[in-house]
Amino acid sequence: MKGLVKGLGVTFKNMTKKKVTYAYPDVPLDLPDRFRGVQHFDPEKCIVCNQCARICPTECITLTGKANPDPEKKGKVIDTYDINFEICILCDLCTEVCPTEAIVMTNNFELATYSRDDLFKNLEWLNDNNTNVRKDQNGQAAAMAAKGGSKA
Ligand code: SF4
Ligand code: SF4
Repeated sequence: MKGLVKGLGVTFKNMTKKKVTYAYPDVPLDLPDRFRGVQHFDPEKCIVCNQCARICPTECITLTGKANPDPEKKGKVIDTYDINFEICILCDLCTEVCPTEAIVMTNNFELATYSRDDLFKNLEWLNDNNTNVRKDQNGQAAAMAAKGGSKA
């Protein structure tokens, strides 16, 4: 009897405490801004410098460029941009090295799928993945620009 009362005491005490569990996936998780989630890619900002692909430790970025269709402008524009999330370790190096912030981290971590083929994400998918883009990344770049420095 004493043990039952003691047990109920613990139960009632915890019923009034603040919940430590989340109603995920019904309620989205509020992750810290520095969380390294699946990247967003903006083709308009990409200068096809290839730095992201070169620094990637798992070689999961594949990109191709093409001549700028605007004859008045020099250089290339991006044609295809793919990331293989079977081997991407979300290390953040590609976003750190990108000079134009064409590729940035987001808070999106939801990659679960029934097929490995679905883990190959192309330019369109990465471009559409534009919710919860890391705010601090942009703030950091703005602060660096104000100081006259570069992010990379
Ligand atoms: S986060 Fe790391 S592993 Fe993933 S694409 Fe970028 S550099 Fe490669
Ligand atoms: S580092 Fe940035 S600008 Fe250069 S190819 Fe990669 S995404 Fe494009």
